[in-house]
Amino acid sequence: MSLGFGRHYLAIPGPSVMPDRVLNAMHVPAPNIYTGALVDTVDGIVADLRTLAHTKDNVAIYIANGHGAWEAANANVFSRGDRALSLATGRFGINWAAQAREMGVEIDMIDFGLRAPVDAQRVEEALRADTGHSYKAVLLTHVDTATSVRNDVQAVRQAMDAAGHPALLMVDCVASFACDPFEMDAWGVDVLVTASQKGLMTPPGLGILFFSDKAKQTTRGNDLRTPYWDWQPRAEPQEFYQHFYGTAPTHLLLGLAEALNMILREEGYEAVMQRHKTLARTVWAAFDAWSDGSEIALNIADPAFRGHSVTAARMGAPHGTALREWTEKNVGVTLGIGLGMAEPGDPSWHGFLRVAHMGHVNAHMTLGVLSVMEAGLRALDIPHGPGALDAAAQVIASSC
Ligand SMILES: *Cc1c(COP(=O)(O)O)cnc(C)c1O
Repeated sequence: MSLGFGRHYLAIPGPSVMPDRVLNAMHVPAPNIYTGALVDTVDGIVADLRTLAHTKDNVAIYIANGHGAWEAANANVFSRGDRALSLATGRFGINWAAQAREMGVEIDMIDFGLRAPVDAQRVEEALRADTGHSYKAVLLTHVDTATSVRNDVQAVRQAMDAAGHPALLMVDCVASFACDPFEMDAWGVDVLVTASQKGLMTPPGLGILFFSDKAKQTTRGNDLRTPYWDWQPRAEPQEFYQHFYGTAPTHLLLGLAEALNMILREEGYEAVMQRHKTLARTVWAAFDAWSDGSEIALNIADPAFRGHSVTAARMGAPHGTALREWTEKNVGVTLGIGLGMAEPGDPSWHGFLRVAHMGHVNAHMTLGVLSVMEAGLRALDIPHGPGALDAAAQVIASSC
């Protein structure tokens, strides 16, 4: 018997759950793209995005997914043959660097593996060794969605300053934006990359860059920059169409404006951060119980280095895939696949999964996901420790 009828829950780390209010805000006829309400809406969106990033810096919005936003960042910052230092802590950091390499940037990578954050000491050493200051930028992922590691951005900035290195600090916040606190200006970040379909609760299609005046000035005239990706007119448009180098992504903007209302004017920034923290701790509490005497483990052992929007877990092969398939088929919940933890084709690929808790997610949704996972562990006879749901409920009980 399938118990999956009813509303399906896609609990993967992007695209995230879209609020009905966001969907309804998009259910309108095409607005005028030259004057009127849409122009004001975009001004409001830019102001709200700055509030979320804690920055006074420049904002450019693209019709693009996260990969497009990466490419926009690369195209604006680099010329062919420039060098950059990539700090990898999972598949997303590796792929951003690979994209830059394909665009003609020479990348040196420090790979910190799949279970640890960036070690700022090693970054400082690498930057000190670059005596000619050949690195134009340092590429960092705030929360790598593949491993769910959360890196200490301030520590990397301090390492750069300690080494006296002038490189730009570029940070991918696609998975963490509006979920984990991020202080672009206070942390000395030059380029912040994010997108609409995760913490921002809006369909995929908006790639967002924030960039500092230093980034703007030191990258003028780069030869990788092309008209569509150029951030300058988008951030300082003389005419409204320059915001998007053509037709505005009208309905995505209307959806995003509503999502920003919900985040900033209804629930409130601090409450949104606190909710993500609490739901993350709820998930971790369940995994801590399941892992007792079993193969199950959280991918990142130290809670101080875990992101609060997604949790990567090790289930032991083939239990990760088996449990994902069971919940999707039987109870209407889709869990995230393991990403970059093993090569596809390697039997151990089936030992991983991820649970998302980003964006429009509340306590009953997270407890529901954990409950159906518990049911699946039992149905499939996957060895697991007891008491996961008690532990999860206790986190919620003591947080309200
Ligand atoms: C989702 C994600 C991306 C890529 O976004 P797409 O929209 O899939 O291109 C990049 N970086 C991180 C950290 C992400 O979580």
